[in-house]
Amino acid sequence: MEMDTIAAISTPVGEGAISIVRLSGKDAIHIAAGIFEGRDLSSVSSHTIHYGKILDPQTEEIAEEVMVSVMKAPKTFTREDIVEINCHGGLVSVNRVLEIVLAMGARIAEPGEFTKRAFLNGRIDLSQAEAVMDLIRAKTDKAMNVALKQMDGRLSRMIEKYRQSLLETIAHVEVNIDYPEYDDVEEMSHDMMREKTKQVHTELEELLQVAKQGKILREGLSTAIIGRPNVGKSSLMNTLVQENKAIVTEIPGTTRDIIEEYVNVRGVPLRLVDTAGIRDTEDIVEKIGVERSRQVLKEADLILFVLNYNEELTAEDIQLFEAIAGLEFIIIVNKTDLDRKLDLQKVTQLAEGKPVITTSLVAEKGVDELENAIAETFFSGDLDQGDLTYVSNIRHIQLLKKAKQSLEDAMAALEMNMPLDLVQIDVTRTWEFLGEIIGDTASDSLIDQLFSQFCLGK
Ligand code: GDP
Repeated sequence: MEMDTIAAISTPVGEGAISIVRLSGKDAIHIAAGIFEGRDLSSVSSHTIHYGKILDPQTEEIAEEVMVSVMKAPKTFTREDIVEINCHGGLVSVNRVLEIVLAMGARIAEPGEFTKRAFLNGRIDLSQAEAVMDLIRAKTDKAMNVALKQMDGRLSRMIEKYRQSLLETIAHVEVNIDYPEYDDVEEMSHDMMREKTKQVHTELEELLQVAKQGKILREGLSTAIIGRPNVGKSSLMNTLVQENKAIVTEIPGTTRDIIEEYVNVRGVPLRLVDTAGIRDTEDIVEKIGVERSRQVLKEADLILFVLNYNEELTAEDIQLFEAIAGLEFIIIVNKTDLDRKLDLQKVTQLAEGKPVITTSLVAEKGVDELENAIAETFFSGDLDQGDLTYVSNIRHIQLLKKAKQSLEDAMAALEMNMPLDLVQIDVTRTWEFLGEIIGDTASDSLIDQLFSQFCLGK
Protein backbone atom coordinates (compact mmCIF):
# COMPACT_ATOMS: atom_id res chain seq x y z
CA MET A 1 0.00 0.00 0.00
CA GLU A 2 1.61 3.26 -1.14
CA MET A 3 0.75 6.19 1.07
CA ASP A 4 1.90 9.79 1.15
CA THR A 5 4.63 10.92 3.49
CA ILE A 6 3.60 12.20 6.89
CA ALA A 7 5.60 14.14 9.47
CA ALA A 8 5.17 15.26 13.06
CA ILE A 9 7.08 16.17 16.17
CA SER A 10 7.10 12.91 18.09
CA THR A 11 8.39 14.11 21.42
CA PRO A 12 6.40 16.06 24.03
CA VAL A 13 5.99 19.73 23.31
CA GLY A 14 8.24 21.91 25.40
CA GLU A 15 11.86 22.31 26.31
CA GLY A 16 13.79 19.06 26.35
CA ALA A 17 17.24 17.74 25.70
CA ILE A 18 16.19 16.43 22.30
CA SER A 19 13.11 16.64 20.12
CA ILE A 20 12.37 14.32 17.26
CA VAL A 21 10.75 15.09 13.94
CA ARG A 22 9.52 11.84 12.49
CA LEU A 23 8.72 11.14 8.86
CA SER A 24 7.03 8.08 7.43
CA GLY A 25 6.12 7.22 3.86
CA LYS A 26 7.51 6.61 0.42
CA ASP A 27 9.32 9.95 0.16
CA ALA A 28 10.61 10.11 3.73
CA ILE A 29 14.23 9.37 2.81
CA HIS A 30 14.15 11.50 -0.34
CA ILE A 31 12.82 14.51 1.59
CA ALA A 32 15.38 14.11 4.37
CA ALA A 33 18.25 13.67 1.91
CA GLY A 34 17.28 16.91 0.17
CA ILE A 35 17.75 19.05 3.26
CA PHE A 36 20.59 17.20 4.99
CA GLU A 37 24.18 18.34 4.90
CA GLY A 38 26.30 15.30 5.63
CA ARG A 39 26.27 11.83 4.11
CA ASP A 40 23.96 11.11 1.20
CA LEU A 41 20.97 9.70 3.08
CA SER A 42 19.54 8.09 -0.06
CA SER A 43 22.44 5.66 -0.17
CA VAL A 44 23.02 4.79 3.50
CA SER A 45 22.06 1.38 4.86
CA SER A 46 18.89 0.82 6.81
CA HIS A 47 18.81 1.36 10.56
CA THR A 48 21.80 3.69 10.69
CA ILE A 49 22.17 7.08 12.33
CA HIS A 50 24.07 10.05 10.87
CA TYR A 51 25.41 13.32 12.18
CA GLY A 52 24.93 16.45 10.10
CA LYS A 53 23.00 19.66 9.59
CA ILE A 54 19.56 20.55 8.30
CA LEU A 55 19.63 23.27 5.67
CA ASP A 56 16.72 25.53 4.92
CA PRO A 57 16.52 25.17 1.11
CA GLN A 58 15.00 28.64 0.71
CA THR A 59 17.53 30.66 2.65
CA GLU A 60 20.32 28.06 2.48
CA GLU A 61 20.90 28.74 6.16
CA ILE A 62 21.69 26.04 8.70
CA ALA A 63 18.49 25.41 10.65
CA GLU A 64 19.70 22.84 13.12
CA GLU A 65 22.47 20.47 14.02
CA VAL A 66 21.02 16.96 14.04
CA MET A 67 21.37 13.20 14.23
CA VAL A 68 19.25 11.50 11.61
CA SER A 69 18.09 7.87 11.83
CA VAL A 70 17.18 6.14 8.58
CA MET A 71 15.00 3.04 8.77
CA LYS A 72 13.91 1.40 5.57
CA ALA A 73 10.70 -0.51 5.01
CA PRO A 74 9.52 -3.07 5.88
CA LYS A 75 11.26 -3.53 9.22
CA THR A 76 9.91 -0.33 10.79
CA PHE A 77 7.04 0.62 13.06
CA THR A 78 4.81 1.68 10.17
CA ARG A 79 6.33 -0.80 7.69
CA GLU A 80 7.16 2.25 5.56
CA ASP A 81 10.44 4.12 5.24
CA ILE A 82 10.94 6.12 8.43
CA VAL A 83 13.35 8.97 9.11
CA GLU A 84 13.77 10.44 12.57
CA ILE A 85 15.51 13.77 12.86
CA ASN A 86 16.89 14.24 16.38
CA CYS A 87 17.14 17.95 17.05
CA HIS A 88 18.86 19.13 20.14
CA GLY A 89 17.58 22.65 20.26
CA GLY A 90 14.38 23.94 21.78
CA LEU A 91 10.91 24.39 20.47
CA VAL A 92 11.78 26.98 17.88
CA SER A 93 14.37 24.94 16.04
CA VAL A 94 12.36 21.73 16.07
CA ASN A 95 9.38 23.59 14.68
CA ARG A 96 11.61 25.06 12.02
CA VAL A 97 12.79 21.59 10.99
CA LEU A 98 9.17 20.44 10.83
CA GLU A 99 8.26 23.43 8.66
CA ILE A 100 11.13 22.63 6.31
CA VAL A 101 10.10 18.99 5.82
CA LEU A 102 6.52 20.12 5.23
CA ALA A 103 7.73 22.64 2.65
CA MET A 104 9.58 19.79 0.96
CA GLY A 105 6.35 17.86 0.42
CA ALA A 106 5.56 15.96 3.60
CA ARG A 107 2.09 16.30 5.09
CA ILE A 108 1.49 17.00 8.79
CA ALA A 109 0.35 13.76 10.45
CA GLU A 110 -3.03 13.44 12.08
CA PRO A 111 -3.09 12.29 15.71
CA GLY A 112 -2.25 8.60 15.82
CA GLU A 113 -1.54 8.38 12.12
CA PHE A 114 1.81 6.63 12.52
CA THR A 115 0.20 3.92 14.60
CA LYS A 116 -2.74 3.79 12.22
CA ARG A 117 -0.34 3.05 9.39
CA ALA A 118 1.27 0.32 11.44
CA PHE A 119 -2.21 -1.15 11.77
CA LEU A 120 -3.25 -0.66 8.15
CA ASN A 121 0.02 -2.15 6.94
CA GLY A 122 -0.58 -5.21 9.06
CA ARG A 123 2.27 -4.67 11.49
CA ILE A 124 -0.01 -4.63 14.54
CA ASP A 125 -3.66 -5.42 15.13
CA LEU A 126 -6.20 -3.07 16.62
CA SER A 127 -5.87 -4.23 20.22
CA GLN A 128 -2.12 -3.76 19.98
CA ALA A 129 -2.58 -0.28 18.55
CA GLU A 130 -4.86 0.59 21.44
CA ALA A 131 -2.21 -0.72 23.80
CA VAL A 132 0.17 1.89 22.41
CA MET A 133 -2.37 4.49 23.47
CA ASP A 134 -2.81 2.89 26.90
CA LEU A 135 0.92 2.88 27.34
CA ILE A 136 1.10 6.61 26.79
CA ARG A 137 -1.63 7.17 29.32
CA ALA A 138 -0.60 4.57 31.87
CA LYS A 139 -0.65 6.00 35.36
CA THR A 140 1.08 3.23 37.27
CA ASP A 141 3.74 0.64 36.58
CA LYS A 142 1.14 -2.09 36.69
CA ALA A 143 -1.04 -0.39 34.13
CA MET A 144 2.03 -0.01 31.97
CA ASN A 145 2.83 -3.72 32.22
CA VAL A 146 -0.68 -4.61 31.15
CA ALA A 147 -0.40 -2.32 28.14
CA LEU A 148 3.01 -3.75 27.26
CA LYS A 149 1.67 -7.28 27.31
CA GLN A 150 -1.25 -6.31 25.16
CA MET A 151 1.08 -4.58 22.74
CA ASP A 152 3.04 -7.76 22.59
CA GLY A 153 -0.10 -9.34 21.16
CA ARG A 154 -1.09 -11.52 24.09
CA LEU A 155 -4.76 -10.60 24.04
CA SER A 156 -4.81 -10.93 20.26
CA ARG A 157 -3.46 -14.44 20.44
CA MET A 158 -6.11 -15.49 22.93
CA ILE A 159 -8.88 -13.94 20.86
CA GLU A 160 -7.52 -15.62 17.73
CA LYS A 161 -7.56 -18.95 19.52
CA TYR A 162 -11.24 -18.58 20.48
CA ARG A 163 -12.14 -17.41 16.99
CA GLN A 164 -10.33 -20.33 15.43
CA SER A 165 -12.21 -22.75 17.64
CA LEU A 166 -15.53 -21.12 16.72
CA LEU A 167 -14.65 -21.02 13.05
CA GLU A 168 -13.91 -24.74 13.02
CA THR A 169 -17.33 -25.37 14.51
CA ILE A 170 -19.01 -23.11 11.97
CA ALA A 171 -17.14 -24.76 9.10
CA HIS A 172 -18.04 -28.19 10.38
CA VAL A 173 -21.74 -27.37 10.34
CA GLU A 174 -21.41 -25.84 6.88
CA VAL A 175 -19.79 -28.97 5.52
CA ASN A 176 -22.54 -31.11 7.03
CA ILE A 177 -25.18 -28.94 5.38
CA ASP A 178 -23.57 -28.29 2.02
CA TYR A 179 -22.04 -31.71 1.46
CA PRO A 180 -24.31 -34.24 3.12
CA GLU A 181 -22.87 -36.86 0.77
CA TYR A 182 -19.46 -36.74 2.50
CA ASP A 183 -19.88 -39.69 4.80
CA ASP A 184 -16.36 -39.47 6.13
CA VAL A 185 -17.04 -36.09 7.77
CA GLU A 186 -18.47 -36.74 11.18
CA GLU A 187 -21.87 -35.16 11.65
CA MET A 188 -21.74 -32.20 14.07
CA SER A 189 -24.07 -33.14 16.87
CA HIS A 190 -25.82 -30.97 19.43
CA ASP A 191 -23.54 -32.46 22.06
CA MET A 192 -20.39 -31.52 20.18
CA MET A 193 -21.69 -28.01 19.60
CA ARG A 194 -22.63 -27.70 23.25
CA GLU A 195 -19.16 -28.74 24.30
CA LYS A 196 -17.45 -26.31 21.91
CA THR A 197 -19.57 -23.30 22.86
CA LYS A 198 -19.24 -24.06 26.57
CA GLN A 199 -15.47 -24.17 26.28
CA VAL A 200 -15.19 -20.74 24.69
CA HIS A 201 -17.87 -19.36 27.00
CA THR A 202 -15.84 -20.36 30.07
CA GLU A 203 -12.74 -18.70 28.68
CA LEU A 204 -14.61 -15.47 27.89
CA GLU A 205 -16.00 -15.46 31.40
CA GLU A 206 -12.53 -15.74 32.89
CA LEU A 207 -11.26 -12.95 30.70
CA LEU A 208 -14.13 -10.71 31.78
CA GLN A 209 -13.50 -11.47 35.42
CA VAL A 210 -10.03 -10.02 35.31
CA ALA A 211 -11.27 -7.18 33.14
CA LYS A 212 -12.58 -5.33 36.16
CA GLN A 213 -9.08 -5.07 37.57
CA GLY A 214 -7.81 -3.97 34.19
CA LYS A 215 -10.32 -1.16 34.04
CA ILE A 216 -9.25 0.01 37.48
CA LEU A 217 -5.63 0.02 36.41
CA ARG A 218 -6.45 2.03 33.37
CA GLU A 219 -8.86 4.55 34.75
CA GLY A 220 -8.15 4.63 38.43
CA LEU A 221 -10.47 3.65 41.18
CA SER A 222 -13.08 6.32 41.69
CA THR A 223 -13.00 6.87 45.41
CA ALA A 224 -15.38 8.82 47.62
CA ILE A 225 -14.55 9.82 51.17
CA ILE A 226 -17.71 10.12 53.26
CA GLY A 227 -18.68 10.67 56.87
CA ARG A 228 -20.28 13.20 59.17
CA PRO A 229 -18.76 16.68 59.59
CA ASN A 230 -15.52 16.89 61.53
CA VAL A 231 -14.66 13.19 61.57
CA GLY A 232 -11.45 13.77 59.55
CA LYS A 233 -12.37 13.45 55.87
CA SER A 234 -10.20 16.33 54.71
CA SER A 235 -7.38 15.14 56.92
CA LEU A 236 -7.62 11.70 55.31
CA MET A 237 -7.60 13.15 51.84
CA ASN A 238 -4.56 15.30 52.65
CA THR A 239 -2.73 12.34 54.16
CA LEU A 240 -3.37 10.22 51.08
CA VAL A 241 -2.17 12.94 48.77
CA GLN A 242 0.91 13.72 50.84
CA GLU A 243 1.98 10.14 51.38
CA ASN A 244 1.55 9.13 47.80
CA LYS A 245 2.71 10.63 44.63
CA ALA A 246 -0.16 12.61 43.24
CA ILE A 247 -0.46 12.25 39.52
CA VAL A 248 -2.16 14.96 37.56
CA THR A 249 -3.30 13.93 34.15
CA GLU A 250 -5.03 15.61 31.32
CA ILE A 251 -7.34 13.50 29.29
CA PRO A 252 -7.48 14.82 25.77
CA GLY A 253 -10.31 14.13 23.42
CA THR A 254 -13.10 15.53 25.55
CA THR A 255 -14.73 18.84 24.72
CA ARG A 256 -12.90 20.49 27.56
CA ASP A 257 -9.83 18.95 29.05
CA ILE A 258 -10.60 17.39 32.39
CA ILE A 259 -7.88 17.55 34.95
CA GLU A 260 -8.09 14.84 37.53
CA GLU A 261 -6.05 14.06 40.56
CA TYR A 262 -4.78 10.59 41.14
CA VAL A 263 -2.92 9.16 44.04
CA ASN A 264 -1.03 5.96 43.65
CA VAL A 265 -1.60 3.67 46.64
CA ARG A 266 0.49 0.50 46.45
CA GLY A 267 0.12 0.47 42.70
CA VAL A 268 -3.61 1.13 42.83
CA PRO A 269 -4.47 4.44 41.21
CA LEU A 270 -7.16 6.18 43.23
CA ARG A 271 -9.14 8.81 41.44
CA LEU A 272 -10.40 11.09 44.15
CA VAL A 273 -13.71 11.91 42.56
CA ASP A 274 -15.73 14.86 43.58
CA THR A 275 -14.17 14.68 47.01
CA ALA A 276 -14.12 18.45 47.10
CA GLY A 277 -17.85 18.43 46.52
CA ILE A 278 -18.42 15.95 49.24
CA ARG A 279 -16.18 17.89 51.60
CA ASP A 280 -18.00 21.13 50.95
CA THR A 281 -21.37 19.56 51.32
CA GLU A 282 -20.25 18.08 54.63
CA ASP A 283 -23.36 16.09 55.30
CA ILE A 284 -24.26 14.66 51.95
CA VAL A 285 -27.18 12.64 53.22
CA GLU A 286 -28.90 15.65 54.68
CA LYS A 287 -28.07 17.92 51.81
CA ILE A 288 -29.01 15.85 48.81
CA GLY A 289 -31.24 13.26 50.38
CA VAL A 290 -30.73 9.59 50.92
CA GLU A 291 -31.81 8.54 47.44
CA ARG A 292 -29.53 10.95 45.59
CA SER A 293 -26.55 10.25 47.80
CA ARG A 294 -27.06 6.55 47.24
CA GLN A 295 -26.79 7.27 43.52
CA VAL A 296 -23.60 9.27 43.98
CA LEU A 297 -22.15 6.49 46.09
CA LYS A 298 -23.09 3.81 43.59
CA GLU A 299 -20.89 5.44 41.00
CA ALA A 300 -17.84 5.14 43.21
CA ASP A 301 -15.68 2.01 42.97
CA LEU A 302 -14.55 2.47 46.53
CA ILE A 303 -16.01 4.31 49.52
CA LEU A 304 -13.91 5.35 52.46
CA PHE A 305 -16.37 5.84 55.32
CA VAL A 306 -14.86 7.78 58.21
CA LEU A 307 -16.21 7.51 61.78
CA ASN A 308 -15.12 9.28 64.96
CA TYR A 309 -13.72 7.06 67.75
CA ASN A 310 -14.53 9.85 70.16
CA GLU A 311 -18.27 9.98 69.41
CA GLU A 312 -21.13 7.57 69.68
CA LEU A 313 -22.79 6.27 66.53
CA THR A 314 -25.57 8.56 65.39
CA ALA A 315 -28.67 7.98 63.31
CA GLU A 316 -26.83 9.63 60.42
CA ASP A 317 -24.03 7.10 60.64
CA ILE A 318 -26.58 4.30 60.49
CA GLN A 319 -28.15 5.95 57.43
CA LEU A 320 -24.75 6.06 55.74
CA PHE A 321 -24.20 2.39 56.59
CA GLU A 322 -27.51 1.63 54.93
CA ALA A 323 -26.62 3.74 51.91
CA ILE A 324 -23.39 1.83 51.25
CA ALA A 325 -24.72 -1.66 51.90
CA GLY A 326 -23.66 -3.95 49.08
CA LEU A 327 -21.01 -1.54 47.78
CA GLU A 328 -17.24 -1.76 48.13
CA PHE A 329 -16.24 0.13 51.27
CA ILE A 330 -13.67 0.43 54.02
CA ILE A 331 -14.55 1.78 57.47
CA ILE A 332 -12.04 4.13 59.01
CA VAL A 333 -12.39 4.74 62.72
CA ASN A 334 -10.42 7.93 63.23
CA LYS A 335 -9.20 9.90 66.25
CA THR A 336 -8.07 6.88 68.26
CA ASP A 337 -5.78 9.25 70.15
CA LEU A 338 -8.90 10.49 71.96
CA ASP A 339 -11.14 8.62 74.41
CA ARG A 340 -13.26 5.83 73.05
CA LYS A 341 -16.96 6.56 72.87
CA LEU A 342 -17.73 4.53 69.76
CA ASP A 343 -19.15 1.02 70.04
CA LEU A 344 -16.55 -0.81 67.95
CA GLN A 345 -18.38 -4.11 68.17
CA LYS A 346 -21.45 -2.53 66.68
CA VAL A 347 -19.34 -0.97 63.90
CA THR A 348 -17.74 -4.32 63.05
CA GLN A 349 -21.19 -5.84 62.94
CA LEU A 350 -22.51 -3.11 60.62
CA ALA A 351 -19.43 -3.49 58.39
CA GLU A 352 -20.55 -7.01 57.52
CA GLY A 353 -17.08 -8.38 56.87
CA LYS A 354 -15.67 -5.30 55.16
CA PRO A 355 -12.39 -3.98 56.64
CA VAL A 356 -12.51 -1.75 59.70
CA ILE A 357 -9.28 0.23 60.14
CA THR A 358 -8.46 2.36 63.16
CA THR A 359 -6.45 5.51 62.59
CA SER A 360 -5.24 8.60 64.27
CA LEU A 361 -4.55 10.96 61.45
CA VAL A 362 -3.02 13.62 63.72
CA ALA A 363 -0.63 11.03 65.18
CA GLU A 364 -0.10 9.50 61.73
CA LYS A 365 -1.18 6.09 62.93
CA GLY A 366 -2.97 3.41 60.94
CA VAL A 367 -2.34 4.86 57.49
CA ASP A 368 -0.20 1.90 56.40
CA GLU A 369 -2.95 -0.48 57.43
CA LEU A 370 -5.46 1.56 55.48
CA GLU A 371 -3.31 1.49 52.37
CA ASN A 372 -2.89 -2.26 52.69
CA ALA A 373 -6.63 -2.65 52.99
CA ILE A 374 -7.18 -0.58 49.83
CA ALA A 375 -4.70 -2.67 47.87
CA GLU A 376 -6.10 -5.95 49.17
CA THR A 377 -9.68 -5.02 48.46
CA PHE A 378 -8.98 -4.88 44.77
CA PHE A 379 -6.01 -7.04 44.10
CA SER A 380 -6.14 -9.84 46.59
CA GLY A 381 -2.58 -10.70 45.69
CA ASP A 382 -3.09 -12.20 42.25
CA LEU A 383 -2.19 -9.19 40.17
CA ASP A 384 1.51 -9.65 40.73
CA GLN A 385 1.55 -13.09 39.19
CA GLY A 386 1.69 -11.18 35.96
CA ASP A 387 0.86 -14.11 33.73
CA LEU A 388 -2.75 -13.37 33.16
CA THR A 389 -3.85 -11.27 30.28
CA TYR A 390 -5.75 -8.30 31.55
CA VAL A 391 -8.32 -6.64 29.41
CA SER A 392 -8.27 -3.02 30.35
CA ASN A 393 -9.96 -1.36 27.44
CA ILE A 394 -13.65 -0.50 27.68
CA ARG A 395 -14.24 -1.19 24.00
CA HIS A 396 -12.74 -4.63 24.39
CA ILE A 397 -14.78 -5.33 27.50
CA GLN A 398 -18.00 -4.35 25.75
CA LEU A 399 -17.22 -6.58 22.80
CA LEU A 400 -16.31 -9.48 25.07
CA LYS A 401 -19.64 -9.05 26.83
CA LYS A 402 -21.50 -9.05 23.53
CA ALA A 403 -19.57 -12.11 22.40
CA LYS A 404 -20.43 -13.89 25.63
CA GLN A 405 -24.09 -12.91 25.29
CA SER A 406 -24.42 -14.26 21.78
CA LEU A 407 -22.71 -17.48 22.86
CA GLU A 408 -25.31 -17.74 25.60
CA ASP A 409 -28.00 -17.29 22.95
CA ALA A 410 -26.44 -20.14 21.04
CA MET A 411 -26.35 -22.29 24.15
CA ALA A 412 -30.00 -21.54 24.89
CA ALA A 413 -30.92 -22.47 21.32
CA LEU A 414 -29.05 -25.74 21.76
CA GLU A 415 -30.99 -26.48 24.93
CA MET A 416 -34.21 -26.03 22.97
CA ASN A 417 -32.91 -28.45 20.36
CA MET A 418 -33.04 -25.89 17.58
CA PRO A 419 -31.49 -26.97 14.27
CA LEU A 420 -27.71 -26.46 14.21
CA ASP A 421 -27.77 -24.10 11.23
CA LEU A 422 -29.83 -21.72 13.37
CA VAL A 423 -27.56 -22.09 16.38
CA GLN A 424 -24.73 -21.31 14.04
CA ILE A 425 -26.04 -17.78 13.43
CA ASP A 426 -25.27 -16.87 17.06
CA VAL A 427 -21.92 -18.60 16.94
CA THR A 428 -21.02 -16.60 13.83
CA ARG A 429 -22.03 -13.40 15.58
CA THR A 430 -19.73 -14.28 18.49
CA TRP A 431 -16.92 -14.81 16.03
CA GLU A 432 -17.62 -11.37 14.53
CA PHE A 433 -17.69 -9.58 17.90
CA LEU A 434 -14.36 -11.11 18.81
CA GLY A 435 -13.03 -10.07 15.43
CA GLU A 436 -13.90 -6.47 16.16
CA ILE A 437 -11.53 -6.51 19.14
CA ILE A 438 -8.55 -7.19 16.95
CA GLY A 439 -9.87 -5.08 14.09
CA ASP A 440 -10.62 -7.91 11.72
CA THR A 441 -14.29 -7.07 11.41
CA ALA A 442 -14.09 -3.46 12.59
CA SER A 443 -15.60 -0.73 10.46
CA ASP A 444 -13.53 2.08 8.92
CA SER A 445 -15.25 4.78 10.95
CA LEU A 446 -14.48 2.96 14.17
CA ILE A 447 -10.85 2.71 13.16
CA ASP A 448 -10.69 6.42 12.30
CA GLN A 449 -12.25 7.37 15.60
CA LEU A 450 -9.91 5.18 17.62
CA PHE A 451 -6.78 6.47 16.01
CA SER A 452 -7.82 10.08 16.33
CA GLN A 453 -7.54 9.67 20.11
CA PHE A 454 -3.81 9.22 19.88
CA CYS A 455 -1.25 11.84 20.69
CA LEU A 456 0.11 13.69 17.74
CA GLY A 457 3.28 12.10 16.45
CA LYS A 458 2.53 8.57 17.64
P1 GDP B 1 -13.93 16.71 57.99
O1 GDP B 1 -14.91 17.74 58.38
O2 GDP B 1 -14.52 15.35 58.09
O3 GDP B 1 -13.26 16.96 56.66
O4 GDP B 1 -12.81 16.73 59.11
P2 GDP B 1 -11.38 17.42 59.11
O5 GDP B 1 -10.41 16.58 58.38
O6 GDP B 1 -11.51 18.83 58.71
O7 GDP B 1 -11.01 17.31 60.64
C1 GDP B 1 -11.79 17.95 61.65
C2 GDP B 1 -10.92 18.21 62.84
O8 GDP B 1 -10.49 16.98 63.44
C3 GDP B 1 -9.66 18.98 62.53
O9 GDP B 1 -9.42 19.91 63.54
C4 GDP B 1 -8.58 17.92 62.53
O10 GDP B 1 -7.31 18.43 62.88
C5 GDP B 1 -9.08 16.96 63.57
N1 GDP B 1 -8.59 15.61 63.40
C6 GDP B 1 -8.48 14.92 62.26
N2 GDP B 1 -7.99 13.68 62.50
C7 GDP B 1 -7.78 13.62 63.84
C8 GDP B 1 -7.29 12.59 64.72
O11 GDP B 1 -6.91 11.49 64.34
N3 GDP B 1 -7.25 12.90 66.06
C9 GDP B 1 -7.64 14.11 66.54
N4 GDP B 1 -7.57 14.32 67.84
N5 GDP B 1 -8.10 15.09 65.75
C10 GDP B 1 -8.18 14.84 64.41
